Amino acid sequence: MKTCILFIMSSIAMLNCDLFSQPIIQSSQLSTSDLTFADQILYSSFCNMEDVESCQLISIGSPQLLSGADGVSTNLNGNNINWRTKEFKFINSQDYFWLGEEIDSNGNPKESYFFLQKKAEITVGEISFSDHFYKIYSINDHDQVLLEYDTENEDHSKICGNQDGENIPYQNPEACESSSCHIKVLMMYTAAVAAKYSHQQLLNFSYGLIAQTQTAMIRSDVHHTLELVAVAPTTYFTEKSSDLGLQLSEVTFAALQSGNDISQNLRAYAADVVTVLCDEKAWGSAQYGIAAVPASKTTGMASLNAITQSLNSQKSYSHEFGHLMNARHTNDNKALPGRAYDFIINNKHVATLLDNQLLPRILNYSNPNIMYYGNIATGVSDRFNVCNMWSHGCIVASIFPEDGCQYNMTGTIEGTCPTVLTHLEVNKDLSSSNN
Ligand SMILES: [Zn+2]
Repeated sequence: MKTCILFIMSSIAMLNCDLFSQPIIQSSQLSTSDLTFADQILYSSFCNMEDVESCQLISIGSPQLLSGADGVSTNLNGNNINWRTKEFKFINSQDYFWLGEEIDSNGNPKESYFFLQKKAEITVGEISFSDHFYKIYSINDHDQVLLEYDTENEDHSKICGNQDGENIPYQNPEACESSSCHIKVLMMYTAAVAAKYSHQQLLNFSYGLIAQTQTAMIRSDVHHTLELVAVAPTTYFTEKSSDLGLQLSEVTFAALQSGNDISQNLRAYAADVVTVLCDEKAWGSAQYGIAAVPASKTTGMASLNAITQSLNSQKSYSHEFGHLMNARHTNDNKALPGRAYDFIINNKHVATLLDNQLLPRILNYSNPNIMYYGNIATGVSDRFNVCNMWSHGCIVASIFPEDGCQYNMTGTIEGTCPTVLTHLEVNKDLSSSNN
């Protein structure tokens, strides 16, 4: 459930309910001197506020980057790439979100996106061109690293082995109602993953994956917000389990009372869902991801993701997270209209995130009302995963009820806005017998 705070800035009072509904602040209120040294490097490398303010175009030069291990490139493909800022939400130097796209020499948007997010002092982001895919992480207090990932599509044939969930009846797309709920996510990782990466790296990865999924939701007009509540190891899931689906279905609301480390952490952090990063190389079934479809109190609230396919351009984490919100594969008719959608743009055949037919995935969930680079819809009426996600996202958000409180707030908004009455509904607390 949302926590609402009344912000008063420059004689304008605004009611803000979450990070991603923050108003766009006047960019002149941000000064580089407000930023830490590490922030200034990133800021001066990626963001020119005057350009953002005057024409919403920014330039990316070659940032100060470190050499990557394992042969990853740290070079951007050329200098002075023009971007149009589509959303820029700045709360303070520790909490901002920025989303844009590349603009070609004719002033047209190209198939690409860029986002940068800072949360809890960790900077993460992605740059995606048609042929290059980069991720940005903080590696310490002073340096960011930009890792280039191969965008050649690997064998997707084993990419997903989701459980079949409840057979939710067909919904008329016209009945889709956009809602906004707050989903708390617990990230855990297996011992095999812990053996390869430090906890700090996994914290970076976790914020990055949440940011990627949140960005996909923003691009697709899904208004739910995600909050990473904790990152912790687990021994409950192991890659060599014979039946991961069964293990997944055992992570239920009832299981919160049991003693394993998943349920202990779900309860401790009041998380609605748990997502587990695992090592595909040791994963016996050779699947890249699996999720409860959809997540619910009784059938499971978990997903597992092979870490490599989550961090690279296959975006498997955002794929599985879509499943938790009842998003369905291209060929899954059981919960219409939620299916993935594929189309051809610039002679390239691409698909939305829930594709399971070997196509390159764009960072969008299918939505017939959202155009891809201005001219191609990202869905049709019966390939409309966002419709499912709108309605099921609030069910996911209510899996773990938060502390009860209920109040009315009235406020006089200066200027031309009328007086508003905001009524906040909240869930019953955990001890309620109605749960
Ligand atoms: Zn899938």
